[in-house]
Amino acid sequence: MKAMVLKEISPIEKEPLQMVDLPVPTPRPKEILVKVSVCGICHTELDEIEGRLQPNLPVILGHEIVGRVEGLGSGVAKFALGDRVGIAWINSVCGKCHFCVEGNENLCLEYKGTGCHANGGYAQYTVVSEDFAYPLPDRFSDSEAAPLLCAGAIGYRDLILSGIKKSQTLGLFGFGASAHIVIQVAKYWGCEVYVFTRGEEHRNLAKKLGAVWAGGPEEIPPQKVNCAIDFTPVGETVLNALRVLEKGGRLVIAVVRKRDIIPPINYAQLLWDEKEIKSVANITRNDAQEFLPLAAEIPIIPEVQEFRLDEANKALILLKEGKIQGAGVLRMPK
Ligand SMILES: [Zn+2]
Ligand SMILES: [Zn+2]
Repeated sequence: MKAMVLKEISPIEKEPLQMVDLPVPTPRPKEILVKVSVCGICHTELDEIEGRLQPNLPVILGHEIVGRVEGLGSGVAKFALGDRVGIAWINSVCGKCHFCVEGNENLCLEYKGTGCHANGGYAQYTVVSEDFAYPLPDRFSDSEAAPLLCAGAIGYRDLILSGIKKSQTLGLFGFGASAHIVIQVAKYWGCEVYVFTRGEEHRNLAKKLGAVWAGGPEEIPPQKVNCAIDFTPVGETVLNALRVLEKGGRLVIAVVRKRDIIPPINYAQLLWDEKEIKSVANITRNDAQEFLPLAAEIPIIPEVQEFRLDEANKALILLKEGKIQGAGVLRMPK
């Protein structure tokens, strides 16, 4: 099979992903073999490639995988040959630690991420435990479904953790793959959404998707926001978000890693009045299982830009430069 493999940590500008030929993996007991149709690209891949996260090298990246079941390990009961499935970031958990037992499997002491600690979807085939694959709503095409699996499911978790209530105001900082899905859920819940992003095209997309206001990251909107979600890799954004956050409001930081440090916070001006800051780590299976039917019910309309598998380096460079509208998706060769 063809696969784009990361062998060593490097700036993405050096185009470190290499196309190689590998044997098709064999599913072990309870695993399914999936013929990958498309795989979304995500900022987490940039963190892995550039060393802010430590993947098990060499690795096949990619954790927004859509494909069809083409092989069954012994004992598989949940899927049949030909079923369409999605695979997300959560690849395996121990099921025994206190985080797992208490329903916080995203914090599992042995959490493994797809395309990081196990091979992912930048390849024609992948294997996964049947317990970590999801049926996908029919109304989405393969490439529309891909960004729902991380950008969407994590975005949904961000929204839940923000504590936003119906008809409250929400601020989104950065407007990439995840935010452009989150805005559609928030609108569906009757929230008023304010979008802060540098790119004019991103601001236009935000308005098209129903933002009541869109401006730059340092701009002050006509009204404060009850909750905010920061999708940017920039430390400074945390201060910008706290500045426009209403008293008692919560800021959720939705990224795995910031590229630079968060500057000192003036407590009296920015954090007092019972404001909160919370980060988000990983997703649970429940996040994906709740979000996918909701996405179909709304329905979410993902904006997708497709690339070929061999264009993965180029697509990730565009992602780093903020030049992808909506979500980027890699299509596998036939
Ligand atoms: Zn992701
Ligand atoms: Zn665990």
